[in-house]
Amino acid sequence: MQIQFVQAPTLKQKPADESKLGFGRIFTDYMFTMRYDRAQGWHDAKVEPYGPFQMEPSSMVLHYGQTIFEGLKCYRREDGGLQLFRPRDNFKRMNISAERLSIPAFDVEDAMAGLLKLLEVEKDWVPHAKDTSLYIRPFIIATDPFVGVRASNTYIFCIILSPVGAYYAHGLSPVGIYVEDKYVRAVRGGFGFAKTAGNYAASLKAGEVAHEKGYDQVLWLDGVEQKYVEEVGSMNMMFVLDNKIITPMLNGSILAGITRDSILKLAASDGYQVEERRIPIAEIFEAAEQGRLQEAFGTGTAAVVSPVGELCWEDKKITLSGGKIGPVAQRMYDELTGIQWGRMADRFNWILKL
Ligand SMILES: *Cc1c(COP(=O)(O)O)cnc(C)c1O
Repeated sequence: MQIQFVQAPTLKQKPADESKLGFGRIFTDYMFTMRYDRAQGWHDAKVEPYGPFQMEPSSMVLHYGQTIFEGLKCYRREDGGLQLFRPRDNFKRMNISAERLSIPAFDVEDAMAGLLKLLEVEKDWVPHAKDTSLYIRPFIIATDPFVGVRASNTYIFCIILSPVGAYYAHGLSPVGIYVEDKYVRAVRGGFGFAKTAGNYAASLKAGEVAHEKGYDQVLWLDGVEQKYVEEVGSMNMMFVLDNKIITPMLNGSILAGITRDSILKLAASDGYQVEERRIPIAEIFEAAEQGRLQEAFGTGTAAVVSPVGELCWEDKKITLSGGKIGPVAQRMYDELTGIQWGRMADRFNWILKL
């Protein structure tokens, strides 16, 4: 695949204070794009200046939400070198999302070539401070100017980059989570397993209600019986119960997190018993009352591991590991970030050095 380079007339000032990067607010000088039409397939690959798309108000993505995305990071090691964590798994998952939303598949190696070329141009944007990284956001949008309902015939694939700060500036701090018992995020046969905008739009209302009640995030229950644990916002859920690590099995309505998969593999190789199964929320609350629930934490690319300090379900509240981070969450965080930032051996061959 040929990738054209279009020079930006001027470059931006890079953020001077890496302690104030935050998340997802600053974008780099360039982006990668390619276009799709039925005659040519994916074509017209470019690294070009970051900037607005020209698109018609009738563009299909704006009306029917035919769009998907991914999220991964580029890490700077202590020796200054750069590396990616399981990047092909993100593009493979993006094609799974694409299939569900009737978006044409792309060649994973073309996407990799585009990403690597973009990173080569933008390497100085990867921050240096501890626990900072360059967040990578690939996405696809449907661009036919048409307000009838069908799959679009044209698309844009784009990758943008955003330097992001340390997620935990003051150590891993536990979050309070509200178990949602009215709204659902995804239903059986829907597209809960796809990384697509609609799943997030469906989640906003419940998030607002949870915030009003003083909680940070929503824990979703299944969309059929509202009995089984699904996931949290943009994280998969894990519990430590009777010294075992348990997590909801992939059932079609939750996202197959790459962090989830990585932690299951790390934990198993560290000698923990791990179990993927249906988890009734009642079992979690009962185990907490009996003192058998040791920890709960979310897993995802942005936060890596997010310990849960409090869970509220209907009129019941439980506090976990004294509202502090538990030893398993801390160990998984240390091991995974150790591999991602190149401080620990890459014993599963997850790292791609640039
Ligand atoms: C992205 C995402 C996750 C986490 O996936 P990772 O690959 O670990 O980043 C979990 N749940 C949802 C709904 C997501 O969109």
